[in-house]
Amino acid sequence: MLSNFLWKNKTHYMRKSVVLNEYGKGGLNFIDFCSLNSTFKINWIKQYLKNPTSIWNFISHHVFSHLGGLKFILLCNYNIQKIPLKLSNFHQQVLLAWALIYKHNFSPHICYIWNNCNILYKNKSLFYDKWFNNGILLVSQLFNSRGLLYNYSKFLARYNIPITPKEFSIVFDAIPSGLCILFKNADHSPPLSLSPSDPLETSLGKLCFSLNRGMNSKVRALFQGDLVSVPTATFYWSNFVSNINWKKVWSLPQKFLLTNKVKEVSFKLIHRFQPVKHFLQKLKNDIDVKCSFCESLPETCSHLFWYCEFTHELWNEINTFIVACIFPDYYKNVLFGACDHSSKDENAFFLVNLILLLAKFHIYKCKFTNKKTNFSVFLKEMEQYISTISPSKNKKAIKTLNVLCTYKVFT
Ligand SMILES: [Zn+2]
Repeated sequence: MLSNFLWKNKTHYMRKSVVLNEYGKGGLNFIDFCSLNSTFKINWIKQYLKNPTSIWNFISHHVFSHLGGLKFILLCNYNIQKIPLKLSNFHQQVLLAWALIYKHNFSPHICYIWNNCNILYKNKSLFYDKWFNNGILLVSQLFNSRGLLYNYSKFLARYNIPITPKEFSIVFDAIPSGLCILFKNADHSPPLSLSPSDPLETSLGKLCFSLNRGMNSKVRALFQGDLVSVPTATFYWSNFVSNINWKKVWSLPQKFLLTNKVKEVSFKLIHRFQPVKHFLQKLKNDIDVKCSFCESLPETCSHLFWYCEFTHELWNEINTFIVACIFPDYYKNVLFGACDHSSKDENAFFLVNLILLLAKFHIYKCKFTNKKTNFSVFLKEMEQYISTISPSKNKKAIKTLNVLCTYKVFT
């Protein structure tokens, strides 16, 4: 649904997994709805754990208390389908969201008996609060020092808890034989009583339940991490240009205060779906592919934005302008922007990149308004852009104006 909105209900030019990337990786920081929803659920857990007994958590607290409390459940290897309670959809989604990002490092010695999807009675996981409240949590506590399961009387003698023979046999029969083999002959001495560890102390808990601001995007990244893929255009361009610093290329337009349309022109050019006629022909084959400017050669991306006599003239003039006013040894890299330069030339290339972005937009605009590219019109547009951003308090705008000042151009 959100992706349809992004592409205005037309053809999707890019894979969704590419758009989901952050800006620096060639995406649009796009939000996957499921990931966002899961992030909200994690935030709900965070709020709940702050004060489980608050009046707002009354129902949830009651429900989860049948399973040892939410704090304990978060540590368990649960499976929603096997939980012996009927959970509301909301609570199911909460537990699902957590299960998606919490990785269990299985070890027989820290394996919990309760809410464990591998320890089942009548296909449901177990929870007995009498055992739980007396500190019996681990599978290992059910084995004697020789690695064999206790019998009923030995078990009562060791733990001294009044447990019925029925509960005893349910729990002990549910322990999978695979686990029993792991304990056999193993020398171990489990504690008599144990309290559950704190999920807030796990590395995931520290990330998800941190009180710092701005954690949402980090939590969302955990959910989206598996969904993203590298833009295919990077492989294409690597055939022509070596050592492209993609992180810089992708994040370049974010350094300026620009309208989305300007950024979009460069973005689409690099991702290779700028709607030039030659490209559109793939979708609709009766299209006239003659260039909008020279009206003679086929309108490919490289022709329209570079080789066409009109565009070429524009770039020549821009080049002369840059060499004269900003940077004498300028070399052109129109497509990706100038990314490899020493730090002392940082400001010069900051301006160069701004000019490149706006020039590509100029070409794009000329095409769609049936005009030819024109350097003096482009300069006017630059001046216009600068007067638009000059009252702005935006950090990027202020930086742009300061750099322009040092080069005494457009001022
Ligand atoms: Zn042309």
